[in-house]
Amino acid sequence: MRKPLDIIVIGGGPAGMMAAGTAASSGASVLLLEKNEKLGKKLLLTGKERCNITNAEINSHTLKKIYGKNGGFLHSAFNSFSNQDIIEFFEDQGVKTKVERGNRVFPQSDRALDVLSALKNYLTKNNVKIKYQAEVKSFIRKEGLITKVVLSNGEECKADKFIIATGGKSYPETGSTGDAFSWLTGMGHQVIKPAPALVPIIMSNEFIKDLEGLSLRNVKITLFDNNTKIDARFGEALFTAHGMSGPVILDLSKLVTGLIKPTLNIDLKPALNYQQLDLRIQRDFAKFNNKIFRNSLHQLLPRKLIAVIIKLSGIDPEKYVNAITKSERKKLLNLLKEFKLSIKGVDGYRKAIITAGGVSLKEVDPKTMRSKLIDNLYFAGEVLDLDGPTGGFNLQICWSSGYCAGLSSAN
Ligand code: FAD
Repeated sequence: MRKPLDIIVIGGGPAGMMAAGTAASSGASVLLLEKNEKLGKKLLLTGKERCNITNAEINSHTLKKIYGKNGGFLHSAFNSFSNQDIIEFFEDQGVKTKVERGNRVFPQSDRALDVLSALKNYLTKNNVKIKYQAEVKSFIRKEGLITKVVLSNGEECKADKFIIATGGKSYPETGSTGDAFSWLTGMGHQVIKPAPALVPIIMSNEFIKDLEGLSLRNVKITLFDNNTKIDARFGEALFTAHGMSGPVILDLSKLVTGLIKPTLNIDLKPALNYQQLDLRIQRDFAKFNNKIFRNSLHQLLPRKLIAVIIKLSGIDPEKYVNAITKSERKKLLNLLKEFKLSIKGVDGYRKAIITAGGVSLKEVDPKTMRSKLIDNLYFAGEVLDLDGPTGGFNLQICWSSGYCAGLSSAN
């Protein structure tokens, strides 16, 4: 007769793999159910396929600053399995890491595939059984406990304990379709309304399409609502066909929902104040004194932006630089310091890096990741009402909660 299973983990993303491997390494017999034909489909896309594993800035004092009001929930899980622990974990599996700008930690090889392979080896080494194309459809419960899960092909899988690590709803083609949210509300859990987060912002300006593909580095972007400043960020951004993306935009996107008349102001030259930039423009104009206006900006601006800025400035592109008036120069100066864009809205789940919302943390024990309503149910990863900014912070949620759920369910 087959030995009964101790634990079933549902979802083979980073959180589920970490939970399954940890539980099995603590002596439990573990089955991992993944609805795709392979593990970690989303993990392979992370960090532009380089996988930003974690962030070296996280410590127990910065959790609330980084993750907001829910950050405190992570305290215990982070202390049991921190960013240093995950770095050590991967180094032990032969994946050397490096720290880049903004304390972002990547594999030295720049390959997300190496991160996934290390997790898969960890599962194999600890004898985790994996069932692919195993889509959980429902749960069978008896006397308040879950006894079995039912797969879409009708098969039933039985275990003592269950870990839900099915992720959120973003990038649904990777398998994260938010299945757990309806299961959990059906079982009496409160789910904080999921919403796409870290998502591109869509603009209404006509000229956006002319800027598609242009990336900006070292710019300062400020979000306004009806001319009231909401927040500002410094860093990189990228123009898309309908709006903007890139780290600064993704981090600001969370604040856009609910605003009445949101706009963005891009300071294209934040290292120079108005006076310094004016002098710089004057120097360029002196250098290109005998050229026409449209041929005088190439040292100041990227090629794609020149035509747009010229149009917005209202200055005749064919005008000789030596004929440009002071007030025209000031107009140009203001455009470079305050390049204004009108926000139409944010993109949807198909383009969202993460899902905000999820299982209410009030109903989960932060020390064990166990449900406070169902004694043999645990959670790990993005399914929880936790999210962070870009920079490796979201995967750390998976590592810490996955480790914690794996360890506590096995003991
Ligand atoms: P997921 O990775 O979503 O995995 C859930 C798994 O559960 C999936 O494999 C799914 O198929 C399976 N599943 C779902 N429903 C069922 C079911 N009914 N039955 C069986 N299986 C099921 N974060 C970072 O920290 N650093 C980065 O560099 C980074 N880059 C990103 C880039 C992109 C393009 C995206 C989309 C996200 C990125 N993130 C990054 C966020 C990060 O990928 C997620 O936070 C993380 O993958 C969440 O892990 P998870 O295990 O909780 O869920």
